[in-house]
Amino acid sequence: MSEPGYDVVIVGGGVIGLSVARELKGHGVDRVVVLEREGAVGQRSSSRANGGVRAQFATSINIAFSLHSIEEFERLATAHGDVLQFHQTGYLFATGTERGEALLRSSLELQRSFGLAVEWLTPPEVLERAPIVRADGLRGGTWHARDGFLDPYGVVEVMRREARGLGAELRLNSEVRALERASNGFVVTTDRDVLHARYVVNAAGAEARSIGRMLDLDVPVWPIRRNLAFARSPGHPTDLIPMCVDFDTGVLVRREVGGGYLIAYSNPEDEPGWATTVDPRFLDDVAERIGNRFPLVSEVPIDPRHCWAGLYPETADHHAIVGFCGEVEGFVLCAGFGGHGIMHSPAAGRAVAELITRGACRSFDLHALRLARFAEGDLTIESAVL
Ligand SMILES: Cc1cc2nc3c(=O)[nH]c(=O)nc-3n(C[C@H](O)[C@H](O)[C@H](O)COP(=O)(O)OP(=O)(O)OC[C@H]3O[C@@H](n4cnc5c(N)ncnc54)[C@H](O)[C@@H]3O)c2cc1C
Repeated sequence: MSEPGYDVVIVGGGVIGLSVARELKGHGVDRVVVLEREGAVGQRSSSRANGGVRAQFATSINIAFSLHSIEEFERLATAHGDVLQFHQTGYLFATGTERGEALLRSSLELQRSFGLAVEWLTPPEVLERAPIVRADGLRGGTWHARDGFLDPYGVVEVMRREARGLGAELRLNSEVRALERASNGFVVTTDRDVLHARYVVNAAGAEARSIGRMLDLDVPVWPIRRNLAFARSPGHPTDLIPMCVDFDTGVLVRREVGGGYLIAYSNPEDEPGWATTVDPRFLDDVAERIGNRFPLVSEVPIDPRHCWAGLYPETADHHAIVGFCGEVEGFVLCAGFGGHGIMHSPAAGRAVAELITRGACRSFDLHALRLARFAEGDLTIESAVL
């Protein structure tokens, strides 16, 4: 049976789709529905994240998205109490190489041009903030106090709560099977019913490509498995420290609330794939690299029962794809957020809401995120990927 009348259908009830719904309702759009295949929201990539939030990126658009999003998280943390668990411990990028220092200092200049109070720390200042860092050969690092981490599922919950509170509809166990163009919009076929919508937003995360194919569009988002390890540390301090990044190896360590260390490393050689079990090679990769800057943590045994993996919805240049799609009017892309989807979800929602309600995005220059960049070969590469 045909059910006409949605202004916007959002495919995917992860943090991105929910944020888009919340912003669309906040911008006065009447009939908004999120279609989610699973029985609950946020069960795919959004529930697997580390929760890192940082403004320390190397490209203007990622810094702009972070700046907006950090401000929004600060506001939401006040409005929603403990749900977000937003700990602004700062991010500390440490380096012992000349090249690392040059890259960090150049990003720092760009970040400061956005008004961010990012500092260069000398080695003693690094150790003062993060005593787990090895001092040998350390040249220093960058530090931004408003960065930190939060509970990814807390973000999903806040977005869901606000979207629903503003009147967005949420349909669970509702898998989109087909999209067809129709007069003045789309026909959306799920495994349960048929809907009509003026706009469709592709917020299907790692599966954005399959949604694009339904309209004969190539949306180059790939699933890349990423892993996290938890190391237990009886007798170790439990106070929070910054999110510590060894910029020379890519290993990332933070202290978990209540003690223990969460360890991440993304091997750039990893191939796309759909597996979400922990990759045994990840533990070898970490073991090889963690001693470079975090020898104290390398001595703490990793607890295999508390390691997990999930998928980055990744693109070739580590930037999301956000915008209208020239070929298919009314089809809006908002996917491919790689390792930044939780932290950039407020900005993503704002961008899509402005596109749909005003015809253009005023808050951000979305040029670097347009789909056409892949066909044009005009990619802006984000180098600060973790
Ligand atoms: C190990 C790990 C660590 C990470 N750490 C961080 C971090 O520190 N900070 C950060 O910001 N980000 C981090 N990320 C990345 C972040 O989790 C993602 O970028 C973000 O969750 C993407 O959100 P999404 O809504 O696009 O995707 P998802 O959460 O995957 O949501 C997409 C939804 O679409 C649904 N769907 C797909 N196809 C259909 C269909 N046909 N019909 C209906 N529904 C459909 C799926 O079921 C899914 O729920 C991490 C990710 C991983 C795996």
